[in-house]
Amino acid sequence: MESITETSIYMQSPVKISHEAQELLCCPICHAKLKRVGQEFECQRPECSTTFPILDGVPVLLNEKSSLFTIDDFVSHRNTFFSDADKGKLNKFLRRLKPTISRNISAKQNYRRLSELLLRQSTSPRVLVLGGSRLGSGMEAIAHTPSIEWVATDVSFGPLVTLICDAHDIPFEDQSFDGVIAQAVLEHVVDPYRCTEEVHRVLKEQGIVYAETPFMQQVHGRQYDFTRFTHLGHRRLFRRFEEIKSGAVCGPGMAFAWSYQYFLMSFATSKTLRTCLRGFANLTSFYLTYLDYFLIEKPGTLDAASTCYFMGRKSVDTLSDRELLKLYKGAG
Ligand SMILES: [Zn+2]
Repeated sequence: MESITETSIYMQSPVKISHEAQELLCCPICHAKLKRVGQEFECQRPECSTTFPILDGVPVLLNEKSSLFTIDDFVSHRNTFFSDADKGKLNKFLRRLKPTISRNISAKQNYRRLSELLLRQSTSPRVLVLGGSRLGSGMEAIAHTPSIEWVATDVSFGPLVTLICDAHDIPFEDQSFDGVIAQAVLEHVVDPYRCTEEVHRVLKEQGIVYAETPFMQQVHGRQYDFTRFTHLGHRRLFRRFEEIKSGAVCGPGMAFAWSYQYFLMSFATSKTLRTCLRGFANLTSFYLTYLDYFLIEKPGTLDAASTCYFMGRKSVDTLSDRELLKLYKGAG
């Protein structure tokens, strides 16, 4: 994905994010202004003065005191979130084999809605994408809308990444964005509550967040997988937002298929055998995910969904826990 605007900016400057977004960058440690000095950004607060490298046009703005990652991980091009192990030939071959047991039923429609809402608020909304080094499921429509500025960040290099940063310390000034997207990200952060506080901080007044976070899913992303949320637990995570829409992204069918796959794989320790079992499970359970089209709006799905989503508007009010209980919409 590369709009004409982004291409022209890239030609003028070796940094991949737009000049306007660069102006909003701040130190991830102390929030002071940053100054570009050659191939680095330097914090302007004398007591901090931390420098951050720019690697192939991608600034690496990490607070090493709190991040799981170090700046040197990126300077040395070590595996971070996405591993080279994911790129094995057998893995790639099996991944190309259809069918799959992962399905996202709601994202496309939700991103269309998000896009409409953002464009109603601003003619050129700026959107921060956490975990955005690769295009997420259903994002095409919003990501390819030229009037929406897309600031794709991640803790891994990838085809779309324009900035390496950690969602615990987002290196942007308060109220920098009209929208923030976190699709399948918050299960991979050690402190999702801190990350949603950061999302709240960097959103403008009335800014919109869209998040998809797993509920009934097995561990994925190796050691970088920490938390799951029920539909209400997810609502509470965004308690400083007014709900626009929430529900299931994929239902019990996908949850069942994943359980079956991980059940089979747990019998094997060798990587090759596990990969073969994964392929076998895909071939013998993919049909379960199609049942989710039928189940997606049913109350029982919220009690057993593979992943839930939340779309909400930044609010000055905080949803109380007693009010939260009234929002249960499961089968009871
Ligand atoms: Zn600083």
